Amino acid sequence: MDCIFCKIVGGEIPSYKVYEDDNVLAFLDITPVNPGHTLVIPKKHYENLFDLPEEEAKKLIVAIKKIAPAVLAGTGAKGFNLGLNNGGTAGQIVNHIHFHIMPRFENDDYELWHGQAYMDGQAAEVLEKIKNNL
Ligand code: AMP
Ligand code: ZN
Repeated sequence: MDCIFCKIVGGEIPSYKVYEDDNVLAFLDITPVNPGHTLVIPKKHYENLFDLPEEEAKKLIVAIKKIAPAVLAGTGAKGFNLGLNNGGTAGQIVNHIHFHIMPRFENDDYELWHGQAYMDGQAAEVLEKIKNNL
C-alpha cells in the first residue's frame, strides 16, 4: 500500500518525531499552521474514524492528552485546536487517520469556521434525521 504515513512509521520517510509508543506515533506536520503543529497517528493503517477500532481510538486520545501539553509548553502557545479531517470532502488528503494538534497564539490570524443560524424548522428536521440513524 502506498501510504506516506505508513512509510513514516516504517522509517522509509524521515520525520521530526515528537512521541512514540507501541501503538501511536506523533511527528511534526511538514506544513504547519504554526510551528509545533503535530500529527498524531495510529501505527497501524486505518483510513478514517469509521475504520478505527475503539481500543485504538482510546490509545490515540490518551496520547493526545499527553502530547498536547508538551506542544503548548514547548511553543509557548496557550491553546490549541484539535483537528480531524475525516473524508475528502472534509479536507482529508492523507488516507491514514491523523489528528492535528495545532498550537494557537493571540492574533495569529487563523480563524475558525463561521457558523450560520438555522432557518425555521431546520434544526428539528435535521435532528430527527440524525437521531433516526443512531
Ligand atoms: P489532511 O489534510 O488532514 O489529510 O492533512 C495531511 C497533513 O499531512 C498536511 O497538513 C500535510 O502538511 C501533512 N504531511 C504530508 N506529508 C507529510 C510528511 N511527509 N511529513 C509530515 N507531514 C506531512
Ligand atoms: Zn498508512
